[in-house]
Amino acid sequence: MVKAALIPVYAKDPSALPGFDGPVGYRRKDGMFTFSDMFKDWMFLYQEGRCGYCGTELGETWFGNRKAHVEHIVCRAHGGDDLPPNVMYACNTCNNQKRDLHFSVLAERIQFRESVAAGIITINQAHKLIEAGINLGFKPAKPFHFSKMNWKHVYAAVAVDRQRMAEEFNLSISEKSHVKQS
Ligand SMILES: [Zn+2]
Repeated sequence: MVKAALIPVYAKDPSALPGFDGPVGYRRKDGMFTFSDMFKDWMFLYQEGRCGYCGTELGETWFGNRKAHVEHIVCRAHGGDDLPPNVMYACNTCNNQKRDLHFSVLAERIQFRESVAAGIITINQAHKLIEAGINLGFKPAKPFHFSKMNWKHVYAAVAVDRQRMAEEFNLSISEKSHVKQS
């Protein structure tokens, strides 16, 4: 059997990856993309083994048993691609909570997860109580770990996500006003 040819893929902007100059991954002829082990190792070490969102340690057993997810900062549903600066490692919990959400929504979920209300009420119940004027005493949202660590290459992806979110917001407003007019 002939092995499918793998085309190495490099970062569009190498300055986005300080100290890394190898292929980020490989693309097969059918378009399937996989990250190179070299890139995953670099990213893990660059992040000092911590989740880019909440800062949780990703675990010593990572190399044998991957507890980290390669997270798409701008998710694919919002047009994000597989390449840096749009990827970083995130823990299971953040990865599951982020899904196709925007940053501000994830920040709120992390804030809720770390509050005393977590495990007692759901985030939707918390929303209703807050709307009803009940002070749940939540601590202010912590900055994301990537922002505390000043991972500048991630900021480009964040800017794209903010822009997509603003576009969606404007779109939903114009859809509503369209409904009103007709
Ligand atoms: Zn996390």
